Amino acid sequence: MQAKKATSSLPRITKARRDRTLRLLAALREHYPDAHCELTYRNPHELLIATILSAQTTDVGVNKATPALFERFPTPAAFAAATPADIEPFIKSIGLFRNKAKALHAAMTTLMQHFGGQVPQTMHELLTLRGVARKTANVVLGNAFKINVGFVVDTHVDRLSKRLGLTPKDANVAQVEKWLMAQLPQDTWCDASHMLIFHGRRACKARPPGGTCCNHPICGEFGRACELRA
Ligand code: SF4
Repeated sequence: MQAKKATSSLPRITKARRDRTLRLLAALREHYPDAHCELTYRNPHELLIATILSAQTTDVGVNKATPALFERFPTPAAFAAATPADIEPFIKSIGLFRNKAKALHAAMTTLMQHFGGQVPQTMHELLTLRGVARKTANVVLGNAFKINVGFVVDTHVDRLSKRLGLTPKDANVAQVEKWLMAQLPQDTWCDASHMLIFHGRRACKARPPGGTCCNHPICGEFGRACELRA
């Protein structure tokens, strides 16, 4: 049921394009066989919190803050019993910390009031939580529950998808997600997002030194659409 919904109303993809994308996936897998979520978490609610905190900041910065945060507030109930002001000191090093403290408190309160203190396992339910949009919901579903109903499109996935010719250059985030979902097998979506993010963080950066491509081997075939290719 979920699989049908997830793949309805997606762009039509030619066999040649799909085959090319599968070759790219294989090349990425060869280079990044251990690609994984780089946020530190021990259970679904910690991943949800870390992902909310990661908006517009780095996973490294979030990982520095969360050990003390999770020690002081070990459960959704502990977050709900606190106030945003109680949470703020633990995430002060992270951008937008006041808004994020409010979001964490509200999201954990909703978990307690409507979901029995458990992180819900559907997109629809996750989107009812404050601070959660599709990207965060996809991260939680894919990594905590191995449920692929969408494709995580962060800044790296957005940039790489366009440079590697997977999506139109003018596609918005929602369109990029649909193009990627249409080209890749559903059971690969979570892993594929990690591989693209690894490539974006380690090789194909937003502003490469000198403004030119690193000429990564992956791009022999796949970077032809890239304007930075040397
Ligand atoms: S050609 Fe270079 S800049 Fe372009 S996608 Fe490949 S590694 Fe990135």
